Amino acid sequence: MTSYTAPVDDYVFLFHDVLKLHEHRDLPGFADFDPEFTRGLLQGLADFHEKVLHPVNRAADEEGARLENGRVRTPGPFKELARQYRESGWLAAGVPERLGGAGLPPVFGAVSSEFSVATGQSFRMYFSFCAPAAEMLDALAEPWIKEHVVPRLVAGEWTATMAMTEAHCGTDLRQIRTRAEPLSDGTWRLRGSKIFISGGDNDLGENVVHIVLAKVPGPDGRIANDLSSVNVFLVSRRRIDPETGALGAENGVGVGSIEHKMGLAGSATCVMNFEDAIGHRIAAPGRSGAAANMAAMFFLMNYARVGVAMSGIGYTEIAQQNAAAYARERLSGRATRGPVNPAGPADPIIVHADIRRLLLGARAFAEGARALGVKIAFMQSLARHGEDEAEKTRCEDLMAVMTPVMKAYCTDKGFECANDCLQVLGGHGFIAEYGLEHFVRNARVGQLYEGANGIQALDLVKRKLTAHQGRPRASFFGTIERFVAAQAGTPGAAPYVRPLAAALDVLGDVLDRATAADASDPDASAAAAYDILTMFGIVAVGWAWAEIACLILKGETSHLGDDAKARKLALARVWMAREMPLVRALADRALLSSEPLMGVPSDLI
Ligand SMILES: Cc1cc2nc3c(=O)[nH]c(=O)nc-3n(C[C@H](O)[C@H](O)[C@H](O)COP(=O)(O)OP(=O)(O)OC[C@H]3O[C@@H](n4cnc5c(N)ncnc54)[C@H](O)[C@@H]3O)c2cc1C
Repeated sequence: MTSYTAPVDDYVFLFHDVLKLHEHRDLPGFADFDPEFTRGLLQGLADFHEKVLHPVNRAADEEGARLENGRVRTPGPFKELARQYRESGWLAAGVPERLGGAGLPPVFGAVSSEFSVATGQSFRMYFSFCAPAAEMLDALAEPWIKEHVVPRLVAGEWTATMAMTEAHCGTDLRQIRTRAEPLSDGTWRLRGSKIFISGGDNDLGENVVHIVLAKVPGPDGRIANDLSSVNVFLVSRRRIDPETGALGAENGVGVGSIEHKMGLAGSATCVMNFEDAIGHRIAAPGRSGAAANMAAMFFLMNYARVGVAMSGIGYTEIAQQNAAAYARERLSGRATRGPVNPAGPADPIIVHADIRRLLLGARAFAEGARALGVKIAFMQSLARHGEDEAEKTRCEDLMAVMTPVMKAYCTDKGFECANDCLQVLGGHGFIAEYGLEHFVRNARVGQLYEGANGIQALDLVKRKLTAHQGRPRASFFGTIERFVAAQAGTPGAAPYVRPLAAALDVLGDVLDRATAADASDPDASAAAAYDILTMFGIVAVGWAWAEIACLILKGETSHLGDDAKARKLALARVWMAREMPLVRALADRALLSSEPLMGVPSDLI
């Protein structure tokens, strides 16, 4: 059995020393955010995840979800967990108060995502679309849906799915075949099949509402082979009476099968068949075309990506805690600088440089990326509710750049770090008993769902950085450059700030040259995109570490003891010394032409 202690102290430090949330009480959701309130809140959240969810997680994944008579049966403990989750109030903690939630801000959502993924992602996935779907429907749906569906999602009595993927297309949604035809009463009839739908059915709530992508015929009755015909529909597993909200007959929505997966077996990943199912179109009022049609889906996807980014941090945290504990106990070989356990047959493996490489690399990622994650989550509040227009725009820009970077880089590193932690246990890492292989298998999915990581890289390089005449790029670089300049007088800051400044210069140069090369080599920036995204990830986590180091050096922390300060500075040095140099190596590769990749005929690959 693995152990887990939620990083409550680290979040209190980040919230109050780094982000100074207590100075933003005028922002919605922050009124109570003083350090005492934060600690109590986070400890309550930690207790649920440490004591209730974590103990049953492994067994639930071993049991798995199964299909019985066309209905999904979730693992044994999940019904009781669902009851406790609903009653605890954590499910709706981030939902605005006017919708029945606790109105906690997105920084809290980031913490919740980390804790829940580390301790029970399979369970959490059944409920993960409840809050985002409720908020999306409240913004975009007809009044009867707001009245009858939204409150049930907020209460977790019903669950929601996001149903986009089809067997022949996941990334390229232009190819969707599910069709929706208008009916005379204003509803729509949907026919088609979706695959990989998380929580497509379950026995944890009374009903499931599917947010479904389907194509509608144009005025000539033909269906266009592009995104212009793709619309979003709410399709309930059971029909809903718009007058009373009462559930009626089944609605032509069936589960074809449950996928057998590499991990997350407790989460039912379903083939969903829509056979003459009745749906309700959800579109942005007052807008037209694809922007209106797809508004609902973008709402859900952006929400999901920040949570997915935190999953990489959650898996790293729990894997590192367990691997470090093992490394303190496991005896093998002797420390090169003299025995530390002379009375014993050997020293603990934590003395060895290679084990420290694995453990410190994972810890430096977890704590640096966590600092970055809450910074970006806080920017959501500033972008939405801040008063200074220029600052709001800067926050929007940083979120635009950092959403694909965090989603892809944090899930890549999360898998890598969980795998490194498995390595600490040697052969014991590979067998089920110690639990590390479970984390590695589960962490893998973050890299490929919610938009595969390669697609995130293209989105960053081809769209996000160049939008608004390059303004998001300028905001990202300008923010870090101003931070670097402001540290000129901070004693002892050079080992943290100089590598950051140097890496930022390299990144800027690569961006200029890779995008300019597209003129003569059409695949140049696409071939470089993944390396560029990884460079952004390393630099952005380095920025978070440099900020922490400078705060400590300036004596501006009140939530870290002396040992914790020394530890944070040591981890910041690990990042600067061991990760930042990779930026230069990645730059060399990013600046190659695309020829080594594109010059090889497909049949020779
Ligand atoms: C456990 C699990 C849960 C999921 N849950 C849901 C869910 O709830 N709802 C839902 O709708 N979907 C869900 N998915 C589906 C998931 O989002 C898709 O698998 C993902 O979007 C990728 O689509 P695909 O599998 O069809 O791969 P493809 O789109 O076929 O892509 C295959 C590879 O090709 C690359 N690629 C594709 N197109 C391009 C291009 N134009 N340029 C460069 N590279 C390209 C991709 O990056 C990827 O590496 C889930 C998947 C899993 C495994």
